[in-house]
Amino acid sequence: MNTIEPFTPVQYIIGRTDFCGLDLIVNENVLIPRPETELLVEEAAGLVKRLAGEEPNELRVLDLCTGSGAIAIALVSRLRSTLTKRPIDCRIVASDISGHALEVARLNAGRHGVSGRINFVESDLFSNICGKFDIVISNPPYIANFEFETLQKEVLKEPRIALDGGADGLDFYRRIIHDAPGYLRPGGYVAFEIGFGQFGEIKKIIEAGAFQVIEVKKDFNGIDRVVIARWIN
Ligand code: GLN
Repeated sequence: MNTIEPFTPVQYIIGRTDFCGLDLIVNENVLIPRPETELLVEEAAGLVKRLAGEEPNELRVLDLCTGSGAIAIALVSRLRSTLTKRPIDCRIVASDISGHALEVARLNAGRHGVSGRINFVESDLFSNICGKFDIVISNPPYIANFEFETLQKEVLKEPRIALDGGADGLDFYRRIIHDAPGYLRPGGYVAFEIGFGQFGEIKKIIEAGAFQVIEVKKDFNGIDRVVIARWIN
């Protein structure tokens, strides 16, 4: 009989979680998608639908730090379910630095019939990414180093690489905002999930990087959770 280590999250034990109504495979190589992240999918879907009315070309979305593929897969599924009137031509590149995470993401995409819409790429943020996108979306690692001591033991079972955002938790936002203009179409957007109390600092990073905050959305706990910004090129 297999022994289960103490504090193993139940999702790893059963190998599954629910995200945006989709049954997703998870294992120790991927962060367990959180309900808060559904808000990012909802906002990104709204943005894609709006842009689809303005942009004559196929919309391109880049999902950085995709992990289990949750955001990319849920976004395509959501757009597909509203496709009956007018199809939205949206292609997603979903990347992760971890090849093991991408194995899970590819499996999930296949199970939900969206493999043809998502191109999975092993990449340290933009390092292996080509082309220009309309939206760069990401739930990057955003836990600050000093916060690790206070995390629940279950969270510590998740990959550190998927959680660790550096000294103040904001390293990935800095890197993404710095490099994103090279990968966006003019006037393109970034859409982030952010951590508790991070909005003030992230707003500074965004605005120092020639982006403008368009929207900040609170989650069901009243915490600023999703930020959408536009590149003012
Ligand atoms: N939401 C996760 C947590 O609070 C962190 C996810 C992340 O770092 N992107 O544990």
